[in-house]
Amino acid sequence: MDKLMSVVIPAFNEEAMVEKAAVAVAGVLKGANIPYELIFVDDGSRDGTWQAIERAHEKDAHVRGVSFSRNFGKDRAVFAGLSRVRGRCAAVMDCDLQHPPERLPEMYALWEQGYEVVEGVKADRGKESFFHKVCANGFYAVISRLAGLDMKRSSDFMVLDRKVVDTLLSLPEQEVFFRGLTAFVGFRRTELEFSVAERTAGKSKWSFKSLVRYAISSVTAFSTAPMQLATVFGVLFALAAVLTGILYAVLGSDPGGWLVFLGCLAVLGVAAILAGLGVAGYYIGRIYRQSLGRPRYIISRECGD
Ligand code: UDP
Ligand code: MG
Repeated sequence: MDKLMSVVIPAFNEEAMVEKAAVAVAGVLKGANIPYELIFVDDGSRDGTWQAIERAHEKDAHVRGVSFSRNFGKDRAVFAGLSRVRGRCAAVMDCDLQHPPERLPEMYALWEQGYEVVEGVKADRGKESFFHKVCANGFYAVISRLAGLDMKRSSDFMVLDRKVVDTLLSLPEQEVFFRGLTAFVGFRRTELEFSVAERTAGKSKWSFKSLVRYAISSVTAFSTAPMQLATVFGVLFALAAVLTGILYAVLGSDPGGWLVFLGCLAVLGVAAILAGLGVAGYYIGRIYRQSLGRPRYIISRECGD
């Protein structure tokens, strides 16, 4: 079992892709003589994903499955898969084959050479709308700046050494952000470029709303800088108020215009306070959810031993 590679594949409403992914990944690994197991995590799918995983298990005993009681999100599904890993290393990849399985043997070879994190980096971002690309670039710029994590080209397509898997599993946070945490834990790393393939069936699970939520959750997981925005606004408004006072003393004249100006400044100040409260509230929410100590996910069934 020394060289076993466990491949973790999160799947949400992927009934059309499970079988294809199982056959493609197993084919590549068999061809390269890499002992493997595939761990599909059904993230509370509402279609026949679980039945497809069971069928794949019947056809190939190397396939195992875990199913969530409801949708908990991709990152938690990845962590559930990692908790089931038996191999000396684990690969993580999408079920839609946008992460090319043909690259797994190269990643495995790099792991054998002693790299503990082999990260697939996107040579291009595949077919995405212009708007999506702009938002993604903005998000990566913010997170690189605030959290010091360079994730511009990073992806969830990775091979991790057992040590890294154990380290990730030992982290106590309930809201896990897989890509950020693999960057956070460090270890000997290398990159491998890959081109994002096109999805052949099913559709992307991301909506604009879920991407925004993901971006906010990711940034706040690694940085408390947004809370300092209130301090920045405080200083700016103090300066503006002092400047207004000085200008009025120097220029004087009709107080009516100045009152309107001051009124606007006051309303803006209140808006800044409310925004600051919102940001602080978001962090308090994170602390509250963490303090409840609820599980990251709930497993309803499993297959394969
Ligand atoms: N996924 C998941 N839970 C979710 C959303 C997505 O397990 O709540 C899985 C999905 O089945 C796929 C992978 O995460 O295997 C990537 O999702 P998707 O293809 O929708 O993302 P995109 O490639 O568009 O970024
Ligand atoms: Mg995809």
